Amino acid sequence: MATTDRYPRQAATLALAHALSAAERGLAVIPLSRAKLPALRSPHRDASGPAGPPCHGECGRFGHGVYDASTDPARIRELFAAAPWATGYGIACGLPPHHLIGVDLDIKSDTDSAAALRALALRHRFTIPPTIIVLTPSGGRHLWLTGPPEVVVPNSAGRLAPGIDIRGAGGYLVGPGSRTAHGAYATAPGTAHLAPAPCPRSLLRLLLPPPRPPRSGGGPTAGGAHGRGLVQFVLAAHEGQRNTRLFWAACRAHEDGIGPELTADLVAAAVRTGLTPREARGTIASAARMTTHRLTRDTPGPPS
Ligand SMILES: [Zn+2]
Repeated sequence: MATTDRYPRQAATLALAHALSAAERGLAVIPLSRAKLPALRSPHRDASGPAGPPCHGECGRFGHGVYDASTDPARIRELFAAAPWATGYGIACGLPPHHLIGVDLDIKSDTDSAAALRALALRHRFTIPPTIIVLTPSGGRHLWLTGPPEVVVPNSAGRLAPGIDIRGAGGYLVGPGSRTAHGAYATAPGTAHLAPAPCPRSLLRLLLPPPRPPRSGGGPTAGGAHGRGLVQFVLAAHEGQRNTRLFWAACRAHEDGIGPELTADLVAAAVRTGLTPREARGTIASAARMTTHRLTRDTPGPPS
């Protein structure tokens, strides 16, 4: 877009304004670049040597992707001040209070993702309720839904049906008003004023990771069905999402008071996905710290 090219400052200011209004609705945001990626690079990108526990912002710097996301206007202004090249913003999924789930209907070649969703809805007997819909520059659409706090909806691409991606815990949606190299994102007419609607139960079931058979030789998982669900969520991780999944599962376990008793099972599951025990314990420890911080301070503030 010519405007964006010629007036990057204005694009950043507009993106910030849109991000702040999303935050007013309780949506945690991060600045995005024209490529729809987190605008701030990781402060650890040059780190070499033995892999320590991954940092999700404990170092106090910006640049941890969706972990930077905040609803605090002062912190959002700081994030955008650090990324004056931002032209858009991302909305973190899976976080309280909305536990946002994005249903991303892609338009690619001959894939009719909207028809695929209608077919799923018929087969599984659900109706997509009236909710916010964001139109993407490529002609796709994002349906915004909310999940119940007790489930962790993972990200997935094409698992539900070809052309349907799900943005869940650890993922983000490009917010309306964002500009990218391919154009602008905007709310669909008549949906901007709507609150994101609760995800229908039968659709929610389709979004959760498929249950895995219990590992042989293992005893019962701590924390009951909820603990088993978290362990399965970790076990279903592909390379590249192992740490993210482990982190989210550990956060959930600590929030729900089963963190300490579930640690051994989470470590075992993470090791099965390819992490070392040391990495797994480090990630779980940082989840425990972050959860304690959240629970005691309610809203995450800027790092001190
Ligand atoms: Zn860090």
